[in-house]
Amino acid sequence: MHEMSLVASLLDIARQEMRSRSAAKILRLRVRYGALANIVPDAFLLAFEIMTRDQDLAGARLDLVEEPLLLACGGCGREFSPAPLPTALFASCPLCGEEIGHRILAGKGLFLDRLELA
Ligand SMILES: [Zn+2]
Repeated sequence: MHEMSLVASLLDIARQEMRSRSAAKILRLRVRYGALANIVPDAFLLAFEIMTRDQDLAGARLDLVEEPLLLACGGCGREFSPAPLPTALFASCPLCGEEIGHRILAGKGLFLDRLELA
């Protein structure tokens, strides 16, 4: 389960941030993940719980927010959010009907969006 290593890097970043701001603890983290980031939310939450239990980050809350896929049409450049996966990448453009060559503008990454420190 690759969620474990993702959570580990996330916690590294959070701890660095906590130290650099001289905070005592982390109350809450918000993580945004793209619809294409291949994240299983339950596995991610479970990994987070296991890796923060009985540690300096015990009690921190994790909010996972899915970032919708945003494409730019390969034909006319129109930006649109298709739904649902897994055929979303080949969705037809609402403007010109093109089905291939779309560029992904958002929805691939995973990042720490917000950190509440105390
Ligand atoms: Zn188009």
